Amino acid sequence: MKFGGTSVATLDRIRRAAKRVGVEVAKGYEVIVIVSAMSGKTNELVNWVGETSPLYDAREYDAVVSSGENVTAGLMALTLQEMDIPARSWQGWQVPLKTTSAHGAARIEEIPTDNLDAKFAEGMKVAVIAGFQGVSPEGRITTLGRGGSDTSAVAFAAAFKAERCDIYTDVDGVYTTDPRITSKARKLDKIAFEEMLELASLGAKVLQTRSVELAMRYKVKLRVLSSFEEPSDTAGTLVCDEEEIMEKNVVAGVAYSRDEAKMTLVSVADRPGIAAAIFGPLSEAGVNVDMIVQNISEEGRTDMTFSCPTDQVARAEKAIMEAKEQGGINFHDLVADTDVAKVSVVGIGMRSHAGVAAQMFQSLRDEGINIKVITTSEIKISVLIDRKYMELAVQALHDTFGLERSSS
Ligand code: ADP
Ligand code: ASP
Ligand code: MG
Repeated sequence: MKFGGTSVATLDRIRRAAKRVGVEVAKGYEVIVIVSAMSGKTNELVNWVGETSPLYDAREYDAVVSSGENVTAGLMALTLQEMDIPARSWQGWQVPLKTTSAHGAARIEEIPTDNLDAKFAEGMKVAVIAGFQGVSPEGRITTLGRGGSDTSAVAFAAAFKAERCDIYTDVDGVYTTDPRITSKARKLDKIAFEEMLELASLGAKVLQTRSVELAMRYKVKLRVLSSFEEPSDTAGTLVCDEEEIMEKNVVAGVAYSRDEAKMTLVSVADRPGIAAAIFGPLSEAGVNVDMIVQNISEEGRTDMTFSCPTDQVARAEKAIMEAKEQGGINFHDLVADTDVAKVSVVGIGMRSHAGVAAQMFQSLRDEGINIKVITTSEIKISVLIDRKYMELAVQALHDTFGLERSSS
């Protein structure tokens, strides 16, 4: 059972979450509980790091930002003990949850089960784990990237072969789009792993992308549900294999990401190897390039456009200007547009349905929204647009693909 930030935001909410754990213990289950930091805490810690040291040491970033989860893990264990439930808290390094040493975005390598198993054998009923954190081969604390407690939860479920992995959050499941953007968003009873994976990676933050990947690989029965509603066996959304879903829409959902920037190298000398000369240095600088467009070339020169997260723009500019100074690339101008957003439609039905892209573009045209960049894959279409139209675009596409709540 994983409880997100809003579900442990106050002592009262921790008590409410603990009661839910108590219900499972009363059924005879041994439970692993993964907790996030109290809501807002991790943001505060991240900001403190930035204010102290703009170009911070990633190891110390992890030392600071992992601490929010330590507090809630201890408080949850104490709350359970007050309810006479034998419980113990564990920080990542104590388990130990072993990760790579990529601080700030570490990947889980292994979760040995013996420490917890020994405690369960002694009568412990609930192991409370501080989510989001692990330990590197060098013995330093690592974190798994923002939203990483979801991944902690699925990884523990896989390692301990749990019957299921329940993610408790502030919405009662996965919706056709973020319910904060449109009240017409509809809760899905089931969603396919592939679709959830795309939605998550395209910005739907209800589950961290990596957690969906792990659940798919290890066949973890993954459910998303609200910690504020009465529990029931059919509550929430089940993330499952597509074969388990009877009713399929061509489009399952709409995702958005505010955090996008578009960069264009204007009038690049076009020759073999030019893409490698641009994207090699960007990759070495750790810039996550997403969309790429190269225009047709005229008189040996072309424009090259790509998108990346807004907070990587400075790094990208530095890498490209250095490559230019070293003679690797030749271009007239570098233009960054940080007022863009990405909106995507996702659905496995697109594999067998033509015309989704045309429908999407018409819908945006009807709203007078200009598309700046387009990318597609087998089950998604993404467009980059002006950020001020983002919500309008999500709402329009939600209507166009008939995703709204049925009137019954
Ligand atoms: P937690 O703190 O529990 O991990 P998050 O804030 O990380 O919660 O994720 C839950 C939020 O994800 C919701 O409040 C909602 O605004 C947002 N969200 C975005 N897209 C979706 C979607 N398709 N379905 C449900 N929630 C979504
Ligand atoms: N507290 C961390 C974050 O806000 C991890 C999580 O909640 O999943 O990113
Ligand atoms: Mg989250």
